[in-house]
Amino acid sequence: MTKPILLDAPNLGELEKKYLIECIDSTFVSSVGKNIDIFENKFAQYLKAKRAVSTQSGTAAIHLALYELGIGPGDEVIVPVITFIATVNPIKYVGATPVFADVDPETWNIDPKEIENHITERTKAIIPVHLYGNPCDMDKIMEISKKYNIPVIEDATESLGATYKGQFTGTFGELNAFSFNGNKIMTTGGGGMIVTNDENKADHLKFLVNQARDSSKGYYHPEIGFNYRMTNLEASLGLAQFERLPEFLSKKRKFAEIYKEGFKNNDKIIFQKSYAGAESSYWLTSIKIESNKSIPEIQEELKEKGIPTRRVFMPIVEFPPYKEYKKEEYKNAYEIYEKGLNLPGSTVNNYEQVEYI
Ligand SMILES: *Cc1c(COP(=O)(O)O)cnc(C)c1O
Repeated sequence: MTKPILLDAPNLGELEKKYLIECIDSTFVSSVGKNIDIFENKFAQYLKAKRAVSTQSGTAAIHLALYELGIGPGDEVIVPVITFIATVNPIKYVGATPVFADVDPETWNIDPKEIENHITERTKAIIPVHLYGNPCDMDKIMEISKKYNIPVIEDATESLGATYKGQFTGTFGELNAFSFNGNKIMTTGGGGMIVTNDENKADHLKFLVNQARDSSKGYYHPEIGFNYRMTNLEASLGLAQFERLPEFLSKKRKFAEIYKEGFKNNDKIIFQKSYAGAESSYWLTSIKIESNKSIPEIQEELKEKGIPTRRVFMPIVEFPPYKEYKKEEYKNAYEIYEKGLNLPGSTVNNYEQVEYI
C-alpha cells in the first residue's frame, strides 16, 4: 500500500482551489464579501432551518449560544462527561458551572435519564453532543427540555448531515453549533456556524460577532461584542466543501458499512450504536474492543500496520480545571474510554484501504 491511510485529514481538490482563487482575485478575503451570506443561506436551507450565522470556530459558536441565552455566573449547564473539551470550556467562559452527566453504554451519548437526574432550579441549558456523528436521543431530550423549560444547545460539530427521525441534527435545539475545523465532516480551514429558527436571535448574533457594531451610525457599539466573524476566504472554501458534502457523507457511511461487515463475526468488537430512527454521519466510525491488551497497545500494533487510530475522548472530569466537578463514578463513560477506539474516517481514503483496515 503506497498511499498512506489517514485518520481524519480533509479532502481538498480542484473546486476548493477554484473558489479560493476567485476569492483572492476579488480582494475580498476578510470579513466583507458575498460568499459569507451565500454560505450561511445555503447551509440553513440544506438543514431546513431558518437561519445560520457563521463564526470563527465551533468553540465560538457554542460560546455565543450560551452568551445569547444570557447564561452566566450561578447558572448550571448539563453536558455529557465524554466529549471534546470545546463543548465545556465555553460554559466557563460565560462564568457558568458545568454539570457532567454519564452517557449511554451503547450509543455513547448523553443519557436522557441522567440529564433529568441532574436538573436543579439553576439549570439553564442542556448541551447534548452527537458524538462522532451519532445523533442523540432527541425525542427524549426535547421532551425533558419542554417539561422543565430548559433550552437545548446541540453540539452538532461532529454530526453535519446526520438525522434523527428524518430531521437534521443541529435543528432541534434553540441555538445549535457546527464546526468546520480541518478534521470535521467538511472544513473552512477553521470556522463554525450557529443554526437557529429564531430570527431575532440570529440577527442579534450576526451583530454580536461583528463587535456589536451598529454600522448605520458608523463605528458605534451599543453593546459589548466579539470578533467571531468568519472570513470571506473561509466561506469560499466552505462553499466548495459544501457542494461536496453529499460525496463526503456517502463515503463515510460506506466506510462504516465496510467496517461493520468486516467485523460482523467478531464479538470482541462492539460498534457505537444508533438510536432507532437515527442515521449517523459517521464522522469517525467508533468501536469498543474487548481485549487483554490496552487500547494504547492495540494502537501501537495498528500503527505498525499503517493504520492510524484515535483514542476516545478522556472523561472531561479527568482534566485539572474540571476535576472538582467529579462527584460521581461515570461508569459508562470510563468503560467507553478504557475500551474505545476511533477508526480512520478521512474521505481521502479509498474503499480498498478500509477493507484492509
Ligand atoms: C470540534 C468540536 C468542537 C469545536 O469546534 P472548533 O471548530 O474546533 O472550535 C466542539 N465540540 C466537539 C464535540 C467537537 O468535536
